[in-house]
Amino acid sequence: MDTMESTLQTLQLLEVSGALVAAYDADDRLRYANRAFRDAFFVEEAEALLWSELMRRNYHADRGTIVKTGDFECWLRSTSARRGKTGFRAFETDLHDGRWLWMTETMRADGWMICIATDVTSIRPDERTLRQDRDQALKASQTDELTGLPSRRFVMSKLEELLGDGIGAAGGVTCLAVLDIDHFKLVNDRFGHSVGDIVLRDFAAIIQNFVRKVDIVGRIGGEEFILILPNTTPEETRAILERMLRAVRQSRPLADPADFGYTFSAGIARAAPGDDTNTLFRRADLALYAAKLRGRDQIQMDGEAAPIKRMTF
Ligand code: GH3
Ligand code: MG
Ligand code: MG
Repeated sequence: MDTMESTLQTLQLLEVSGALVAAYDADDRLRYANRAFRDAFFVEEAEALLWSELMRRNYHADRGTIVKTGDFECWLRSTSARRGKTGFRAFETDLHDGRWLWMTETMRADGWMICIATDVTSIRPDERTLRQDRDQALKASQTDELTGLPSRRFVMSKLEELLGDGIGAAGGVTCLAVLDIDHFKLVNDRFGHSVGDIVLRDFAAIIQNFVRKVDIVGRIGGEEFILILPNTTPEETRAILERMLRAVRQSRPLADPADFGYTFSAGIARAAPGDDTNTLFRRADLALYAAKLRGRDQIQMDGEAAPIKRMTF
């Protein structure tokens, strides 16, 4: 049998399967969905929706996955930041039509994700609350509550995985950036902690706009954030961060005073063979410190020789 024919036969078998089967490409666009999947999530056969579009459309039509949130866009940002960052993930999810699915997501090295779900509505329903609580607790440990970004624990474990895979040593280049809001203490002192929180959320939402699907972003402390960029050169990393600098400079997140603006600084380090999370993080953090000394609102590359301007009085 030639490959074309066997591929077609496989697709025909999948089409009539009771399991829900779908494939998303590296841009998270739905490129294949069998009938069971299309029926559950209301997609047409030839539609190539982005995952975010599919979720948004169903959320507003009260169909497909039940998403319990008062702020759907916030939920979407938070979920997107963790989506596809784990090789394999399995979880229980409920649909508006009353069904429960056991959903598995498998990532391929090329960025495609294969989803397979089976109906588990009648399986151990009495233990469902327990399983949901467990999933909820796991999600909470991976998420920073204030901004919805991945937590320190989540990003650090991803960085460890990446370095453990030898990505710093072999083929691809991994860069790490540490970002820190400038003079943030003054924001709190001047306007209060809750206004500080608004600025933190604003910052998180802005930088997330520039983060690609392969990147991992997270909040690691008060006003400190981290960005992991696999297969990215220091120059490309700098270009992405320059765009973030410009966008943050232009942001006016407060109603009063409406002209309030803020900036951030960042340090970049490139993973070297033998690096662990601590050594790599320390280099990026030292670069950040240099960016602060040089006057803030700028990016500093680790090992860049340019001298720090002397203070003049
Ligand atoms: P620099 O430009 O050198 O980074 O100065 P900075 O004032 O930003 O740095 P510093 O580390 O001195 O201050 C960070 C402040 O962040 C101190 C703390 O009050 C505030 N902070 C930490 N976590 C939170 C939070 O969750 N919410 C708010 N509103 N403020 C926080
Ligand atoms: Mg700061
Ligand atoms: Mg700080």
